Amino acid sequence: MSDTILSVKNLTANVDGTPILKGLNLEVKAGEVHAIMGRNGSGKSTFSKVLTGHPDYEVTGGEILYKGESLLETEPEQRALAGIFLAFQYPLEIPGVSNLDFLRIAYNAKQKHLGLEELDNFDFEDLVNEKLDIVQMNPSFLDRSLNEGFSGGEKKRNEILQMAILEPTLSILDEIDSGLDIDALRIVSSGVNQLKTENNACIVITHYQRLLEYIEPDFVHVMYDGRIVMSGDKELAHELEAKGYDFLDEKVLAAV
Ligand code: ADP
Ligand code: MG
Repeated sequence: MSDTILSVKNLTANVDGTPILKGLNLEVKAGEVHAIMGRNGSGKSTFSKVLTGHPDYEVTGGEILYKGESLLETEPEQRALAGIFLAFQYPLEIPGVSNLDFLRIAYNAKQKHLGLEELDNFDFEDLVNEKLDIVQMNPSFLDRSLNEGFSGGEKKRNEILQMAILEPTLSILDEIDSGLDIDALRIVSSGVNQLKTENNACIVITHYQRLLEYIEPDFVHVMYDGRIVMSGDKELAHELEAKGYDFLDEKVLAAV
């Protein structure tokens, strides 16, 4: 069982007192890419925020195990240090903090946590420069304020750059395809594919099948009203694309 990275059991969670997640189950093993698809409002982003411990989201039942240990009492910073990474649907802009400084601080916090060497500005810049190719990013982006004035595509590439530097065990990519043109989509997807290893795992949240042409999932799950109601391989994504999400209404109603 040691290769299980994430095990979510009957998870329920509220936002502002309203139940949003209503019994979600998911098992993710090392080396796997899982896609979660579903209509707007089905709870995909809520799930990603609950995984990272966002304070606005209250877990009301169930369990989240990360590498066999419960995450529920763990602070967001500790989850990040333990190797859980969320690429935001809407990345934050932080004026006055350079992208390079942000990356270095995050990287060094992780190194310190792992008892590994922290890097000074000079050596860190070398490390980042090696990673820029993964997302075809121009070095001039490192000196700019974090995400400030970045285009949609540049923000998403920057999220993948963070991922390349932090080397998370579990990455959750929330609609990294939203707002991307086809070239940016290719670059971002190729970055994600290059970062895949046998020891890490990725949850790719998307509304559209298109992304899954580029990032090939091992499993596709469909979220509906706060639960995963169907799971399959990538054929399921094609089926959804063809039928739309409406057919789920009949399917779910037929099951109750
Ligand atoms: P998805 O990412 O699948 O589109 P979300 O997880 O963003 O869905 O939203 C699920 C539901 O939770 C929606 O009905 C949304 O309005 C609600 N919700 C999410 N965040 C909040 C919040 N901070 N306050 C109130 N309702 C929220
Ligand atoms: Mg969302």
